[in-house]
Amino acid sequence: MLRRQSLRESAARTYARSLPIVPVRARGLTIEGADGRRYLDCLAGAGTLALGHNHPVVLEAIRKVLDSGAPLHALDLATPVKDAFTTELFTTLPRPLADHARIQFCSPAGTDAVEAALKLVRTATGRGGLLAFTGAYHGMTAGALDASGGASNARVTRLPYPLNYRCPYGVGGERGAELAARWTESLLDDPKGGVPAPAGMIVEPVQGEGGVNPAPDSWMRRMREITAARSIPLIADEVQTGVGRTGAFWAVEHSGIVPDVMVLSKAIGGSLPLAVIVYRDDLDVWQPGAHAGTFRGNQLAMAAGTATLTYVRENRLAERAALLGGRMLARLQGLAADHPTIGDVRGRGLMIGVELVDPEREDPQTGTATAAPALATAVQRECLRRGLIVELGGRHSSVVRLLPPLTLTDEQAVAVLDRLADALAAAER
Ligand code: PMP
Repeated sequence: MLRRQSLRESAARTYARSLPIVPVRARGLTIEGADGRRYLDCLAGAGTLALGHNHPVVLEAIRKVLDSGAPLHALDLATPVKDAFTTELFTTLPRPLADHARIQFCSPAGTDAVEAALKLVRTATGRGGLLAFTGAYHGMTAGALDASGGASNARVTRLPYPLNYRCPYGVGGERGAELAARWTESLLDDPKGGVPAPAGMIVEPVQGEGGVNPAPDSWMRRMREITAARSIPLIADEVQTGVGRTGAFWAVEHSGIVPDVMVLSKAIGGSLPLAVIVYRDDLDVWQPGAHAGTFRGNQLAMAAGTATLTYVRENRLAERAALLGGRMLARLQGLAADHPTIGDVRGRGLMIGVELVDPEREDPQTGTATAAPALATAVQRECLRRGLIVELGGRHSSVVRLLPPLTLTDEQAVAVLDRLADALAAAER
């Protein structure tokens, strides 16, 4: 039965191809397959599960709505469940934004919230161009895809995202980030530079799919300065970095900047689909119906999201992510000292990346070792054999990514890294 279903599924599927697991039960960090095997899940719904699978507070919140007889689908109507979600979300948001912000519920995926944000700034500024970054990922619908990775086009000007490792200019660090900022300024101010009047700039404070690239705080502040000085709305895509993941409730808090628009999804729905944008109220020039969507009123997702946000806030899970993530990074750096195949270890909080390389071959452009996607795939496979689910990412698919739940215990963190270390040793053989 299962086999027949999966045969019907298109080859466009991704996880089903790389992770041959048929999950039937899950709790916390653990997923159990139909064959009875248990896995530590460090993919966690592509970073969605801040509290892990089926956390009791999330299940309780969902049950409460089910038992109350409330409508499960309420479109745009005001409901107590929606009000509780909005109130809790605004409690967590950076103050200066929350004090003067509107929320727009979107069709429930990150990519639709990105579309809404792009449309909003284009409508509000009356301009068309967009500033986006190399290595970015914002989703799979047309506008979001335009803003992701890839080459520039008529509507999108691609700017350099600061990379510490494998910096294309061979600089990296704070200095590289400052040069990237100056390049951005010179491009915007060059009267013949060909940058179409930008309606906004969209940025991930830590690139996730792009290979876990944390932007230096100084660079985030420069992007804020540069956009503010030119009246360009700054959109922070916190779809993946939000809700404690990076060691602050929202990743923009690390640099202290206040964006004009925040794009939120994944963890805000507590494992159910939910996506919103929050934006400065003076940008709210939309007419009714300007960004519609049938599935914007999912009460279960809002209740699960409220429970998640409250739990992360009350239990200070962002601080916990910072502490535990720091320890995990330190251990991985130790591992790198023994394994020349680890080119770089980086991350912020519990958003961690291990870039695998071929130490024998130098990349002439950056002077670093070349990326090793085949080794990364082998490590992923060996992890799976040892009961550990990891994700791959980065430009060359050579970065092993860990996005564990923020509820990860010390013992679980050790188990995850033990298995990863074993898997790497096996894959190298
Ligand atoms: N923005 C970022 C930063 C993301 O990481 C993702 C998903 N990985 C998206 C947008 C798109 O979200 P979705 O897959 O829910 O459309």
